Amino acid sequence: MAPPDCAEPRWLKAGLDHIWLPYAQMKTAARPLPVVASEGARLTLADGRVLVDGIASWWTACHGYNHPHIAEALREQLARLPHVMFGGLAHEQAYRLATRLAALLPGDLERVFFTESGSVSVEVAMKMAVQYWMNRGVAGRTKILSFRGGYHGDTFATMAVCDPEEGMHAKFAGVFAPQLIGDLPRDGAALAGLRQLVEAHAHELAAILVEPRVQGAGGMVFHEDQVLRDLRQLADDFGLLLIFDEIFTGFGRTGAMFACAEAGVTPDIVTLSKALTGGTLPLAATLARKHVFDAFWGDEADKALMHGPTYMGNALACAAANASLDLFESEPRLAQVARIAARLEDGLAPCRALPGVTDVRVMGAIGVVELEAMPEPRALQAAFLDRGVWIRPFRNVVYLTPAFVIADGELEQLTGAVRAALGEALLRA
Ligand code: PLP
Repeated sequence: MAPPDCAEPRWLKAGLDHIWLPYAQMKTAARPLPVVASEGARLTLADGRVLVDGIASWWTACHGYNHPHIAEALREQLARLPHVMFGGLAHEQAYRLATRLAALLPGDLERVFFTESGSVSVEVAMKMAVQYWMNRGVAGRTKILSFRGGYHGDTFATMAVCDPEEGMHAKFAGVFAPQLIGDLPRDGAALAGLRQLVEAHAHELAAILVEPRVQGAGGMVFHEDQVLRDLRQLADDFGLLLIFDEIFTGFGRTGAMFACAEAGVTPDIVTLSKALTGGTLPLAATLARKHVFDAFWGDEADKALMHGPTYMGNALACAAANASLDLFESEPRLAQVARIAARLEDGLAPCRALPGVTDVRVMGAIGVVELEAMPEPRALQAAFLDRGVWIRPFRNVVYLTPAFVIADGELEQLTGAVRAALGEALLRA
């Protein structure tokens, strides 16, 4: 591993021989930065440096770190009931959270199944869709149609619905059951092509699965809400279920609380995670509409959804999620997102003039600078750190997804760092 970027605590030195890092070639990966504290939109490193966080911990910490309301809810819940098994026992936090989520999501998306990660919530959505047809006595509808550029997780079933070529799971093709991959219908010709594909495969399709508005990990690629309305129509025309993966877009990130509501589309199943607990604890939810749930309802035991993770509905995580929803009610989050969008537009616009920049785009609290090719990542990362910001570019995009509570000055530090560090790197390249 590369030499340290800052003074290293003993636990890091010792632990590095035992930790296996995410998405990393362990031999060549930069050593991770030791973080010892967080507050608002800032992270404090072991050597005392403070970084403005441009990523909000993989898009989770929407209220900023250490929000006192969530911290207090967690303290209270920890003292009373941290966790209890979900089979046969019930606790208030999960039931209250399910009731609140059902009220927030559009239409009759009213049945909530809790899991502990985004990938698993997508697995559950896929399982629900496939079993929906089984329970209705329709054989052979076992496949999911998903989209090029899409990303839905790293578990086996979700790898099969990620982009098959560009995604990081391409080498596993053939290992898991193949699914159907199409192109997002961004224009009339693509929609006609997709309709033909669906027509040819409708007999074996259970559902259409899409990230609404933004394909996140696939490169922060946006699409119009009309795409989602067209997918709803297509699903209806061929009697398919429509699944929205709102793990990234949910809870205000695109400027609306949920992309589906803003697009005026009620999908049959929705997955949520990431900002659900305001970036404090792992939790995910799969919400199903009444007609989906009804297909599982009956006297026959084998129509039940046989799924139940050990930490399902964890009380601490649900308490954090309820506290997070309180904050969406009591603090002006969506107005903050609108302000961030305007600042990102202004702050990133000059990047358009840089050599090798192919696009600059903003949606809500997502700012993206897309490049022909990523300049030397190690040098770019060091240049960001020199400017006191934590930004983690990937593929060919440098992006910002800050906490919604970020101050104007902090946001300017982020966009200024992107302009300057990227500018230097691109001119060197
Ligand atoms: N779906 C989308 C749209 C995501 O962005 C992600 C993670 O980035 C996932 C699913 C997987 O979530 P997790 O990493 O919690 O398994």
